[in-house]
Amino acid sequence: MFEKILIANRGEIALRIQRACRTMGIKTVAVHSEADAEAKYVKLADESVCIGPAASAQSYLNIPAIISAAEVTDAEAIHPGYGFLSENADFAERVEKSGYFFIGTRPDTIRLMGDKVSAKNAMRQAGVPCVPGSGGALPESLDEVKKIVKEIGYPVIIKAAGGGGGRGMRVVHTEAALSNAVITTRNEAQTAFGNPVVYAEKYLENPRHIEFQVLADEYGNVVHLGERDCSMQRRHQKIIEEAPARGISVQLRDKIGELCVEACKRINYRGVGTFEFLYENNEFYFIEMNTRLQVEHPVTEAITGIDLVQAQIRVAAGEKLSLQQKDIVFKGHAIECRINAEDPYKLTPSAGRITQYHAPGGPGIRVDSHIYHNYRVPPYYDSMIAKVIAYGDDRDLAIARMRIALTEMIVEGIKTNIPLHLDLLTDCNFLSGPVSIHHLEGKLVLYNKKST
Ligand code: ADP
Repeated sequence: MFEKILIANRGEIALRIQRACRTMGIKTVAVHSEADAEAKYVKLADESVCIGPAASAQSYLNIPAIISAAEVTDAEAIHPGYGFLSENADFAERVEKSGYFFIGTRPDTIRLMGDKVSAKNAMRQAGVPCVPGSGGALPESLDEVKKIVKEIGYPVIIKAAGGGGGRGMRVVHTEAALSNAVITTRNEAQTAFGNPVVYAEKYLENPRHIEFQVLADEYGNVVHLGERDCSMQRRHQKIIEEAPARGISVQLRDKIGELCVEACKRINYRGVGTFEFLYENNEFYFIEMNTRLQVEHPVTEAITGIDLVQAQIRVAAGEKLSLQQKDIVFKGHAIECRINAEDPYKLTPSAGRITQYHAPGGPGIRVDSHIYHNYRVPPYYDSMIAKVIAYGDDRDLAIARMRIALTEMIVEGIKTNIPLHLDLLTDCNFLSGPVSIHHLEGKLVLYNKKST
């Protein structure tokens, strides 16, 4: 096992990884920007290194600075967390070439799955059902694009091959709007992701977002850890996730889980990963794979009892998976609310000092957060400041515990989306049945109409 791991991330996930390391007796190095110098998890780490100013491009995305920090601290492995460099194949390659272990997927696999066009092709060949679409990059000629899209049938969604974080996609309902949408998405994709390639997919009108968690070692042993429903989204970004997903039979879970496992074997997958699907009319359609730990991993941990970060570290160190598929048992129900520092309805970010903080607790409640009383939420990074995870024997109990937890939770001095979560936790549609990915967007339009 590693003696020392460098954590190339910040916020709650840096703390989560640090906790896993400490549980395993591994020393930690926290790298941080100037803006995060005072964070408690930085002080709790065995060592810390400032890697640059507040702007991510000069700190958390600064590959040479991170590698130098590993050199000066003698770390053996680097954990990238999620976001930042976690799905950057060049970073993974640089880490390995510099003589460190990358706690994640092989660089080639990151490259293959990081490009959504090549990922879909690889999955199609592995027998995984995909959303029908252009089957590859859209050509330059807009006349050709029109023909391709006509065959798919409107509405379609134009997506950037290199896209992520819910950005770089545009829905098109009519041929008249097509050319503009393709040109704008291409330009945005070039600016945001350095890759102008776009493709088209059938736009599913009322799907749920359901994803499967996988775990694989170096030696071709792969298991799946079931599914999560992440349909509660705003701006294509998740805010509530739960496991298991309602209404998915054991047979269907086994079937799709097995397809994901087989696909991992085919692409020689290593580490943790997530197959994201849209689910409509009892059919699963693959949209993309995330070759890293997900924000929502705790709900899977809650229902399987498996610590995914520890498992990830073990397989990166070359240990064989100690679990077989038959050992994985799903028990109870878990739900996660992402607490963001933002206006709950307008979604505008809200940075600043936390003047009062009280964390919830009690049976079945887990809080993953780096914040504390007097912590200053910096304006430079993602707005998520905490994750509250509630577990219960069944969904009703998990939701009841979450509701109590969020009424106990106090975060003052900044705005948070706790009021929105509390609304959603009493929303009859959410309580009674699965909702689609458009549910929250619809509600937000209504809220904002009421308030104007
Ligand atoms: P990202 O990598 O940016 O997260 P994804 O491809 O995972 O992008 O899509 C994010 C979200 O966008 C999905 O969860 C879903 O809400 C919506 N979306 C993506 N593709 C489609 C589609 N073909 N039809 C309808 N909604 C889609």
